[in-house]
Amino acid sequence: MNTINCLDLKGQQRQVKAEIFELYDKVYDDCAFAGGKYVEEFEKQFASYCGVKYCVGLSNGTVALHLAMIALGVEAGDEVIIPANTFIATAWGPSHVGATPVFVDCNDDNWEINAAKIEAAITSKTKGVIGVHLYGQPFDVDVVQKICDKHNIFLMEDAAQAQGSLYHNRKAGSLSKLATFSFYPGKNLGATGEAGCITTDDETIYNRLLSLRNHGMKVRYYHDEIGYNYRMGGLEGASLTIKLKYLDQWNAKRRYYANRYQTEISNPKIKLQSQPEWAVSNYHLFVITTDNRDDLIKYLAEKGINVGLHYPVPCHLQKAYSSLNYKVGSMPASEYLAEHCVSLPMYAELTEDEVSYVIKELNNY
Ligand SMILES: *Cc1c(COP(=O)(O)O)cnc(C)c1O
Repeated sequence: MNTINCLDLKGQQRQVKAEIFELYDKVYDDCAFAGGKYVEEFEKQFASYCGVKYCVGLSNGTVALHLAMIALGVEAGDEVIIPANTFIATAWGPSHVGATPVFVDCNDDNWEINAAKIEAAITSKTKGVIGVHLYGQPFDVDVVQKICDKHNIFLMEDAAQAQGSLYHNRKAGSLSKLATFSFYPGKNLGATGEAGCITTDDETIYNRLLSLRNHGMKVRYYHDEIGYNYRMGGLEGASLTIKLKYLDQWNAKRRYYANRYQTEISNPKIKLQSQPEWAVSNYHLFVITTDNRDDLIKYLAEKGINVGLHYPVPCHLQKAYSSLNYKVGSMPASEYLAEHCVSLPMYAELTEDEVSYVIKELNNY
């Protein structure tokens, strides 16, 4: 058996190469490189896929978070509540407008943001909450929305990991005021390059985003506010249009393999993320915890299985945020996860035999 990695993009890229190259040809001949009609086509299709009115294509998921903060009125000195256990870019959103990310702990069973901790973290400076569908599994949006409504603050989704995930049968990205997505190549829907977007049903926010991403202009060379160059590239947009057609099929394969992991891993040393019945994950990542992580990683590596760590340091303990003075021990569930998490191989192009082999070795461990 060849080495099995946590993620291998090559199979997927091979599968869609001919189709994408054919469309690249058109983008090239039309010189539609920066924004343009191939991006617009993707925006239309992705909005419809998510079940929202609008999608604004952007250059990556991190700038999507930045523009989301501006569009939601977050300013210097404000506070925005986010989970401590997320990819750091969630926190860059508030930081990039001079606001402060306020980290809260996760639940210790499903690892999603702990709603009770949100309520306790709200102050007079709190503008809103960025919920994260971590690893592709939706957080409990209705519960968090209720808290936000009670305190008159916004809720938005960081759906970077959740293309095609479902919450009570509704798509991630359609569950709050607005949602940010990343189409980083390794995401379930990944561009052949860097890309991201924001989805929303709010027409005012939509129009503001169109202007902000394009130098603050509606009419060429007339700049109404300080803007950004955060447009999506045409080649990236074209690749996403092709790949979107396959997303459900790829997610279904991931769900099938996730189900095999869940039903066939029987080693008591391995603990799984709990699955609320209202959440259908896209299994962007399949994360387990174990007491002695280094030992498991070494064992698997000897068997030719490479795993990932998502993420080894929670946001509140990152050096970048040392000035916020969070202490070790302040977010026990997130810190436990950071120290014990292991991401198993998970992507649609794994073979049945490879998954069987990973399960066998996990059970032998
Ligand atoms: C990938 C990711 C981002 C950032 O997206 P980029 O496109 O890499 O900038 C933000 N939040 C989460 C949760 C992510 O996983």
